[in-house]
Amino acid sequence: MNLLKLGYKITKLYAFNHLFLKHSLCNISSYICSMSFLEDKTPNRIPLSKLGEFGLIQHISKNFELKNDTSVFGIGDDCAVIDVGHHFQLLTTDMLIEGVHFDLTYTPLKHLGYKSVVVNLSDIYAMNGLPKQITVSIALSNRFPLEAVEELYEGIRLACVAYNVDLVGGDTTSSTSGLCLSITAVGEVSKDKIVYRNGAKEYDLIVVSGDLGSAYLGLQLLNREKQVFESNPQMQPDLQNKDYVLQRQLRPEARKDIIDLFESKGIVPNSMIDISDGLSSELLHLCSNSKVGCAIYEEKLPIDFMAISIAEEFNISAATCALNGGEDYELLFTISQAHYDAIKDDPDLTIIGHITDVSHGSELVTKDENHQPLTAQGWNALS
Ligand code: ADP
Ligand code: MG
Repeated sequence: MNLLKLGYKITKLYAFNHLFLKHSLCNISSYICSMSFLEDKTPNRIPLSKLGEFGLIQHISKNFELKNDTSVFGIGDDCAVIDVGHHFQLLTTDMLIEGVHFDLTYTPLKHLGYKSVVVNLSDIYAMNGLPKQITVSIALSNRFPLEAVEELYEGIRLACVAYNVDLVGGDTTSSTSGLCLSITAVGEVSKDKIVYRNGAKEYDLIVVSGDLGSAYLGLQLLNREKQVFESNPQMQPDLQNKDYVLQRQLRPEARKDIIDLFESKGIVPNSMIDISDGLSSELLHLCSNSKVGCAIYEEKLPIDFMAISIAEEFNISAATCALNGGEDYELLFTISQAHYDAIKDDPDLTIIGHITDVSHGSELVTKDENHQPLTAQGWNALS
């Protein structure tokens, strides 16, 4: 950093410092010292990878209490819940970063726009709610021409049309590295129909919508073809007849239809979460939030036939992809056994196991009848 920049930074810090001192949070010297955390390599600093993403969120949240009566539920579910009178408002936000969540060498911007909306709406559906509005914030570098931004927003617009939501605001800024997209979605749910992660009860059926693992396998395919292309740009990508897994990765859908199905059948699940980080990880969240255990069966995992054949091609277990792959954006929920008849013939819903007492732990029963503890090996932003 040159001296001019340092001077500017310190002037800015002084301006901030007035505020900090007023609230007796810290003073300028301790603030500048704290900045040296970034450079500090001493071994007693705790690396973020030690806490992991969820450990870090817990660590952050423990110092914050909800002060307003209208803040019904804060950190710890798919959405925050706000009491706005005759219904609850749902609020969720997700950030997508180039190079972490997407690779523009094979991600069409229109698909990216669509997906970035869908991943937020999925969290609203996971509370049994309906999305109504979104805001979109973008950070762009000057390598993006207007046409690229138009493509991105065409995808966002198509998702707004498909899910009947309104784009009502956002923020636009520059980025010195890649593209960053942050979307916030607002939804609504009746007070008597809201579903949290923490309501699962012993003997509940564990149900998952759609199929699992395909989005992960789509990503493996795209990465493989990217590598082939980089080593020999004359090669044509081998993506023939793989549309389904590619679509699951590049342009997923959120399960509004399942929320409509609950409404039409008069079902309110006891607990629900959407599968963004992998079935195992999400099921463990449901169980720990509900203070219950679970047993799920490998042979029951819904996996598309194309995913099975691509998993074979990659020499990986399709069940592992289904358990840990992530980005499926399916709904995982638990219902009381009284609802069994209402869902048993639905080809889009699969009962994969049941909820047990907490003392039983969370286990996976493999095809050869082995009982294994379920472990979260899905996506962790900080691992
Ligand atoms: P999801 O996978 O459903 O999007 P996350 O795992 O991202 O949920 O987040 C879990 C919970 O932690 C949510 O309630 C979310 O709002 C909250 N959360 C995540 N990151 C932060 C943060 N940096 N500060 C405060 N709350 C956070
Ligand atoms: Mg979620």
